[in-house]
Amino acid sequence: MASETKHAGNFVEKPRTIVALREEIAAGRAKAADLAASYYQRIEQINPQLNVYLSLSKERALEQAQRVDAMAAKGDPLPALAGIPVGIKDVLVMKGAPATAGSKILQGYHPPYDATTVARLEAAGAVLLGKINCDEFAMGSSNENSAYGPVRNPVDPERVPGGSSGGSAAAVAANMAVATLGSDTGGSIRQPASFCGVVGVLPTYGRVSRYGLIAFGSSLDRVGPFAANVRDAATLLHVIAGHDAKDATSSPAPVEDYAAESDKPAAGLRLGVPAEYFAEGLDPEVRAAIEKGIDALKAAGCEVKPISLPHTKYAVPTYYLIATAEASANLARFDGVRYGYRSPQSATLAEMYRHSRDEGFGAEVKRRILLGTYALSAGYYDAYYRKAQQVRRILAEEFLRAFAEVDAILTPTSPVPAFKLGEKTDDPLAMYLADIYTVTASLAGICGVTVPCGATAAGLPVGMQVLARPLGESTAFRVARAVEAAGIR
Ligand code: GLN
Repeated sequence: MASETKHAGNFVEKPRTIVALREEIAAGRAKAADLAASYYQRIEQINPQLNVYLSLSKERALEQAQRVDAMAAKGDPLPALAGIPVGIKDVLVMKGAPATAGSKILQGYHPPYDATTVARLEAAGAVLLGKINCDEFAMGSSNENSAYGPVRNPVDPERVPGGSSGGSAAAVAANMAVATLGSDTGGSIRQPASFCGVVGVLPTYGRVSRYGLIAFGSSLDRVGPFAANVRDAATLLHVIAGHDAKDATSSPAPVEDYAAESDKPAAGLRLGVPAEYFAEGLDPEVRAAIEKGIDALKAAGCEVKPISLPHTKYAVPTYYLIATAEASANLARFDGVRYGYRSPQSATLAEMYRHSRDEGFGAEVKRRILLGTYALSAGYYDAYYRKAQQVRRILAEEFLRAFAEVDAILTPTSPVPAFKLGEKTDDPLAMYLADIYTVTASLAGICGVTVPCGATAAGLPVGMQVLARPLGESTAFRVARAVEAAGIR
């Protein structure tokens, strides 16, 4: 071992499907407790190289696994995720477990409650393995903004896994969990899923409760699943979706059986390909892979036609105004008094606030608080924040008009494949600009799925983004299933 380079090798390993694992547990051929133990073993083996997990919740996981095994032994009907090992992005709270949001400022914070999504997973039988690394307060596109060090991409550990839910994507790609939860404010589920070659879901705004999600941009934040295949991702969404009295923005609309819906053929669906997502800046290998995916959908009987979303070019500045404005308000609560880190070296209260925030927040978070505070300040509010809200409305209307003509929209998830660690850290603007294909759906409140769709010559995964109208998750899953079934290489 000592003579080998630390990050050599490829850590990709496909987890078994939820259906297969659940059947084995139900039939008594496998035990949930053994499955959890085998996942902890794999985590202990490769976490030092990939830096995916920040903390493990072994006691809670083993208790849950034993409950599932007892049910199986009695022959009780098993819930949807019985015994399935799942990891949680560390922006969602789990009772008693450290919650860091990838930040030093939350050091020592142990929340006294479960996020609704965490509670729903556990009620469905999932075994919660632990908390997963991410960019600080979910701000970033590469996972390099975590106070606990970057996550490495299991496909190529010299490359980033994407962000901010890079750890959640890497965990599934490296089989350190069967599935995970992440959050997506401007692309943080979709982009890392595409960089790591797994499926990621952006549910419609309000489809999944945000209760217990550490807030970044509250009008944009969504919680959603990662899995190795579309059906498993759909199964997870089915479990976590639905109205929650603890989140006033959660939708009362009934939840569809997404896994069953995803089994329906995509033939006959009308799909739009927006010219603006295939313009300058798109890596030619990514383009070629997506074109193969589009051809596969045509072959599967879908009707594909060109569409136009001309306001796409305003999406990045609009997003970075609204997201930072909301972040500056949301992060005001971290003051050294109520949560986590407090600077030890302060003579007055004002100094304590200042030092705690100065030492507790990282550079990117400070940049966002400054930008957001500026955009909201008197005199600039109308010029920036109000304008951004108006553009946001236009973008949303543009999507709704498109969805009058097509059932789903196909785009690359990211203009580039996974880049090298350090490649973009000196240029925040270049990092922001790469969010061009994901921030639009975030602003519009619509839903989408990213599904693996081939790879570059160097073997880097490419993801296709399938967008659908509000509450159109089933349609997005059907299209994604067809892309997956085509097995594009
Ligand atoms: N990369 C985007 C940002 O840095 C999106 C992050 C997210 O979705 N949480 O804001």
